[in-house]
Amino acid sequence: MQQKPPQPQQQPIFNNQYEILKSLGEGNTSKVYLGRDLTNPQHLVAIKILRDEFLKRDEHTILSVQNEITILQSLDHSGIVRMLEFGDSGHVLKPSGRVIPNLVYIMMEFVQGGLLFDLCELMAAMGEDTGRFFANQMLDAIDYMHSNRTVHRDLKLENILVDDHLNLKIADFGFASHKSIDCLKSYRGTLTYMAPEIKEGKVYKGTQVDLFSFGVILFIIV
Ligand code: ADP
Ligand code: MG
Repeated sequence: MQQKPPQPQQQPIFNNQYEILKSLGEGNTSKVYLGRDLTNPQHLVAIKILRDEFLKRDEHTILSVQNEITILQSLDHSGIVRMLEFGDSGHVLKPSGRVIPNLVYIMMEFVQGGLLFDLCELMAAMGEDTGRFFANQMLDAIDYMHSNRTVHRDLKLENILVDDHLNLKIADFGFASHKSIDCLKSYRGTLTYMAPEIKEGKVYKGTQVDLFSFGVILFIIV
């Protein structure tokens, strides 16, 4: 019997194990891709690759990525995106044969439904019942986070993922703080969701500024 010739590689391959299928989105610090496990094609993952420009900005940026990883490791809740792996020596093999080495990455469960932001755009105002449905889920996850002495500091529609059963998952812990949460000073967050005390440069309580951002989200979705 004649053997089939090997198919040329169509997609980039991450760490010799995941075929990169498409881009899922990007933020200020990273680009996130959908990966499919070559040994188990049912297994889809989200691979967040930190941008070189961001990592090279100053000495604090690497610390902030380490911080994000430590925090994700400490959280275990259905309303918070789960981290599967991380590293600083990720590599991508392009179909051309070119290899991009030394990538700093965080691999997470893939959340299928997109962003709460997109859902909002699609539905315009959701009304009180749907708003309550999502608000309850958000509060459950925020309450878990806060009782774990973690504050997010960048809660917004672009950092909340929705799965295909309409379960919310909070993502992007790049600005989060763990343990020291009561007397914070750093200017963190996104202006439109930011509590006034951060804007005014005051010492602030992390749990309170998260609740302020939650209020803005609720205002937008309802
Ligand atoms: P940044 O720190 O650069 O803002 P995020 O963690 O917010 O990065 O991710 C950027 C975008 O990638 C998100 O807005 C979302 O569209 C997409 N994304 C991130 N994580 C996932 C995931 N686990 N599943 C699906 N899409 C994701
Ligand atoms: Mg983000």
